[in-house]
Amino acid sequence: SSGSDDNDVVVVGGGPGGYVAAIKAAQLGLKTTCIEKRGALGGTCLNVGCIPSKALLHSSHMYHEAKHAFHNHGVKFSSVEVDLPAMMSQKDKAVSNLTRGIEGLFKKNKVTYVKGYGKFISPSEISVDTIDGENTVVKGKNIIIATGSDVKSLPGIAIDEKKIVSSTGALALTEIPKKLVVVGAGYIGLEMGSVWRRLGSEVTVVEFGPDIVPTMDSEIRKQFQRSLEKQGMKFVLKTKVVSVDTSGDGVKLTLEPAAGGDQTTFEADVVLVSAGRVPFTSGLDLDKIGVETDKGGRILVNERFSTNVPGVYAIGDVIPGPMLAHKAEEDGVACVEYLAGKVGHVDYDLVPGVVYTHPEVASVGKTEEQVKSLGVEYRVGKFPFMANSRAKAIDDAEGLVKILADKETDKILGVHIMAPNAGELIHEAAIALQYDASSEDIARVCHAHPTMSEALKEAAMATYDKPIHI
Ligand code: FAD
Repeated sequence: SSGSDDNDVVVVGGGPGGYVAAIKAAQLGLKTTCIEKRGALGGTCLNVGCIPSKALLHSSHMYHEAKHAFHNHGVKFSSVEVDLPAMMSQKDKAVSNLTRGIEGLFKKNKVTYVKGYGKFISPSEISVDTIDGENTVVKGKNIIIATGSDVKSLPGIAIDEKKIVSSTGALALTEIPKKLVVVGAGYIGLEMGSVWRRLGSEVTVVEFGPDIVPTMDSEIRKQFQRSLEKQGMKFVLKTKVVSVDTSGDGVKLTLEPAAGGDQTTFEADVVLVSAGRVPFTSGLDLDKIGVETDKGGRILVNERFSTNVPGVYAIGDVIPGPMLAHKAEEDGVACVEYLAGKVGHVDYDLVPGVVYTHPEVASVGKTEEQVKSLGVEYRVGKFPFMANSRAKAIDDAEGLVKILADKETDKILGVHIMAPNAGELIHEAAIALQYDASSEDIARVCHAHPTMSEALKEAAMATYDKPIHI
């Protein structure tokens, strides 16, 4: 047994949910241990998710801009090339710096870090097979499960991380594929598809459903899809991949209409399977202590993140809710605040969502479809970046801001932005929604000129009155 028998909190999993919970617990004076099997902190997000994907999105965007946009700004050079190994090593450096940074934060906050695979012996004891081949038992008054999620596999498509890759393999290809097929048009598929498209791949996205990113406001989605198509991405919707044949040089896919019908074949060099993610609890021995899960394997919790087993909690991708890093972090903080006798709070209606393509698409609050289905009378205010002076000055003016507000009270219900930096712009809207602001509240805030943020102000003006610049 380890020396940390008297833990107040033991966190299983060191992703954005788990490591944030561990740091917060220690800051609140609780004796805390975090167990992580990967050998590096930061979880999916930092190691094979948010961070490496944003590194490659930025690098590939730079290449694309150098090739297609710099000359418009009078910046000329004779040739531009991709050095893929250098691009990958920039990404790897970013990841390793950040994971080591979290280890530093653990030391600073006195969180004990145990590297190994944890499984329940009892509701207060975790057996850990450590990375260096030992076994230790970590005890705690409270245990937080933060074991995250894993790639969802599809029947008939075995992932080998070479020709048939998950997002993890797509972040580490050693050659630029001539033809890439992305199976699943969620944000991860579109981001990774964008990376390889910009680097020269022919990219075809095959999606079972009728729409890309189905949770998006449909008016924004249509413009977004058109923008991706202009960049050369192809979409085959309402179609399923029945099987893949990897016996030849590349991959031969067999496709079938979602509604049934004649099969067709399609060739690719690499196939990316990005059809969603599933909660990861394998090897945890949840049955042993009787923790309840839903049909999809997500751990069921109450508003205090408590499972049905007293003293056992769960947060992040492993519980229901949006599978996003910032949501996992909010869960972690709120869960630990409850444990420390305080009050925690996560507003799941106000978790922003961002697709980090170019332009980016970001949203917070309700889509027009959701507002309609609630039967609320509403107004829509829109402002295109084509009429925003900063966007025009830098020649990057694709996209718009769309605000939905209650017709009677003018309270903002949802904000949707497509713009190069939408992921940053959205937080002004997130604060407005959090404080129950009206569109007039945003419109009457002085916004610096010339900024992209002025488009939000103008869209707010358009919601209850008239914009100036269009
Ligand atoms: P995870 O990050 O999955 O962490 C769980 C950790 O627990 C893992 O490190 C795992 O090794 C460990 N673990 C599991 N079981 C055990 C065990 N028994 N013992 C010990 N350790 C264990 N989200 C965003 O918000 N923004 C983005 O831009 C974004 N981009 C993404 C891009 C990609 C390609 C992918 C795949 C995901 C992306 N996500 C993004 C989603 C984000 O990564 C997850 O929502 C987030 O990581 C969830 O955090 P978590 O702490 O719940 O779980």
